[in-house]
Amino acid sequence: MNIQENVPLAPHTTLRIGGPARYYATALSEEELRDAALWARSRSLPVFVLGGGSNLVISDDGFPGLVLHVRLRGIEATQDGRVVAAAGEDWDALVSRCVAAGLAGIECLSGIPGSVGGTPVQNVGAYGQEVSATIRSVRAMDIATGEFRNLAASECGFSYRTSIFNSSERGRHVVSSVTYELDPGGAPRLDYKELKDRFEGRPAPSLAEVREAVLTVRAGKSMLLASDDPNSRSAGSFFKNPIVREPLWAALEKTTGVPAPRYAVSPGLVKVPAAWLIDRAGFQRGERRGPVGISSRHTLALVNFGGNATAAQLMKLAVEIQARVMKRFGIELEMEPVRVGFGE
Ligand SMILES: Cc1cc2nc3c(=O)[nH]c(=O)nc-3n(C[C@H](O)[C@H](O)[C@H](O)COP(=O)(O)OP(=O)(O)OC[C@H]3O[C@@H](n4cnc5c(N)ncnc54)[C@H](O)[C@@H]3O)c2cc1C
Repeated sequence: MNIQENVPLAPHTTLRIGGPARYYATALSEEELRDAALWARSRSLPVFVLGGGSNLVISDDGFPGLVLHVRLRGIEATQDGRVVAAAGEDWDALVSRCVAAGLAGIECLSGIPGSVGGTPVQNVGAYGQEVSATIRSVRAMDIATGEFRNLAASECGFSYRTSIFNSSERGRHVVSSVTYELDPGGAPRLDYKELKDRFEGRPAPSLAEVREAVLTVRAGKSMLLASDDPNSRSAGSFFKNPIVREPLWAALEKTTGVPAPRYAVSPGLVKVPAAWLIDRAGFQRGERRGPVGISSRHTLALVNFGGNATAAQLMKLAVEIQARVMKRFGIELEMEPVRVGFGE
């Protein structure tokens, strides 16, 4: 195990913002994960687990403990659609491989950046699919003890952008592999209107066609990483879609004069698109505050447009958006990316 000191973290993130890790180690095996965790424990250092860095805002001061970069590789697939992938595998490469093998269940999650190990953490979702629907189990190490456990999906506490890994047991585990249960020969999911419209009047599209459509839609919103697209230097959606009570949703029409979009969640509760609220609060796509701003293609993405942008500048804009949405609509927008090194 090689422990490095004062390693810049910005290059390990899609936002390319933030300070250094006091200590940094890469783990290629479960044994290295355990060694690194026990090394940190022996020095009473906090540990932060880094995957693909696509859902992070690292503070300008960096992280004062050990950043453990999970790079375990390996994929095993069985005939019945079960796929076991190591946490350090690239998520979209796995989706591509499964689609090519005719395995349905994650095709709408094409193009989401990051690692396999990151997918259960916030239960990634897009275009009508959530990864939790296909997760059978998650293998994880308890950072405090170095012990590994297989957690059944039912133990992971999955809900919208939530699992035990980012809520009740946040910071406790390192995911080393995930077992997905996919549907061999299954049909693609076509729930999302923008996708459905693309196949209007055509016979049932294949998994590969749906994957291509998802990638095209995502590229149009700069929600695919592309080195030549400045709008993609982001952490994806910066705010979760708030879930509110019906009367609060109804009040939105009185304030704005138009009915707000809604997705039923449970009796009395609806999900409202955060992008709609931000738009209606008066923010414009492409609006900037120095080197940071709102993507010119997607209101929900905050972007580092270059020029030595800092985490402080980005967070100031995020707080400005939260405050204006709260003042106008009485709705709290919750930030989606994980903040690291902000003393939380
Ligand atoms: C352009 C763009 C588009 C995006 N679109 C979507 C989208 O459509 N839907 C969606 O849900 N998300 C989206 N995201 C967010 C992000 O890609 C996902 O949340 C992704 O799963 C994060 O994985 P990661 O490996 O990059 O995790 P990181 O960003 O490295 O880490 C995120 C969190 O997961 C934890 N973590 C990572 N790996 C492990 C592990 N092995 N064990 C334990 N904890 C771990 C970290 O400690 C941290 O708390 C998007 C991001 C970008 C930049």
